[in-house]
Amino acid sequence: MKCPYCGEEMKRGFIYGDRYSLKWIPEEKDKGVIFQWFARGIKLSDAFMNNSVESFCCENCRKIIIDVENKIDQRK
Ligand SMILES: [Zn+2]
Repeated sequence: MKCPYCGEEMKRGFIYGDRYSLKWIPEEKDKGVIFQWFARGIKLSDAFMNNSVESFCCENCRKIIIDVENKIDQRK
């Protein structure tokens, strides 16, 4: 993947969670660690699987990009 900021090739790697799944929650829905179970967000990793998420790192820009396709919570 090319970095959208500088155009350099990015390094593919994985972010590993610890005991719980990694989840991205929009700031306005973030009510603290306990309520994150109920908040709709983007589940980045699954603690019951290998609990990691593929990501691309640009060492120039010091940014990590995660593709969230198929990870967005569609619950109503
Ligand atoms: Zn870059």
